[in-house]
Amino acid sequence: MLNLKGHVHVGRAKKIDAIDIGGQHVQSGQRASIELEIARLYTHAPLNVSIEVLHGKLNGPVLLVCAAIHGDELNGIEVVRQIMAKIDPKKLHGTLIAIPVVNVFGFIHKSRYLPDRRDLNRSFPGSERGSIAGRMAYQLFDQVIRQCSHVIDLHTAAIHRTNLPQIRANLDNQDAAAMATAFGAPVVVDAALREGSLRAEAERIGIPVITYEAGEALRFEPYAINAGVRGVIRVMRDLGMLRQTRRKTPYQPVTARSTKWVRAEADGLLRSHVALGESVNSGQVIGIISDPAGVTETEIKAQQSGIVIGQHTLPVVNEGDAIFHIAFFSQPDDLIEQHMEDYRDQVKDDLDDEIKWGIGTLSS
Ligand SMILES: [Zn+2]
Repeated sequence: MLNLKGHVHVGRAKKIDAIDIGGQHVQSGQRASIELEIARLYTHAPLNVSIEVLHGKLNGPVLLVCAAIHGDELNGIEVVRQIMAKIDPKKLHGTLIAIPVVNVFGFIHKSRYLPDRRDLNRSFPGSERGSIAGRMAYQLFDQVIRQCSHVIDLHTAAIHRTNLPQIRANLDNQDAAAMATAFGAPVVVDAALREGSLRAEAERIGIPVITYEAGEALRFEPYAINAGVRGVIRVMRDLGMLRQTRRKTPYQPVTARSTKWVRAEADGLLRSHVALGESVNSGQVIGIISDPAGVTETEIKAQQSGIVIGQHTLPVVNEGDAIFHIAFFSQPDDLIEQHMEDYRDQVKDDLDDEIKWGIGTLSS
């Protein structure tokens, strides 16, 4: 059963109509915190999804920024927190709806999934009388997503993998392609729509969605977080929600032609010879898998030249595990590699980061 409570922090003025989320009105120029009751725990305590609404004074898009649809993917939560701290609803055109933790069940258990082992991001648009995943997806889709004009969905790689900051989008959708470019992550991957994902199901009803993937599950990574904050703000500027600042050199992301996972060809301990953003050549040894004593060794070679955009982080691997995600580009790889480095430097210089570079990745 749906039950909404909330409180309003600021504001007056009524240049645009109030926005309504599940029965709660938010007036223009206001910020509101809405608690959407989505389920109950065994204790019978309600389990709420917290929704922050910044309803601008002036007309504009309704953008949803959400994180932790997979409950163990934490970088996006910090991206949302930093963005909410930066934006004044009185200066905002349109509406920003932010959900820092979508999958609250998974978040509590430090897990990707829901208690029924289902993946929330395969359960949209959901069903009112379906499984717990279906019901949760239904509430979110019905109460929030249907009234959005654009969506940015924040993810990290799955547990024990890490991703170079990248945008996944259906580039056949012009609006999604424009958001992907505006975000300005170093790489854009033209990714097929997967049935039941937020991206696929929102696009089916005409709402463009981009997915940001960066970093590793259960970690805060400064680079991934800063690149995410910067990207969301850039999309908001491009959509006219925030005032454009005087641009330095606009950063153009590069679009991968295709991507491919390299798999482990043996069981054992993996020593990786490459890092995210590095170029690899066809035939280059990018990792070695050995038994613990080093008696047998298997070289893992790149099959084609490309750039590493994702990799396995656990040293223990089973044969068949996906260990390196390589992207292929039309431009020469050394230029792409330079482009990745330039981007990283820009992000490092640009933001006064609260999460320190080099420390965040060491803490657990
Ligand atoms: Zn995810």
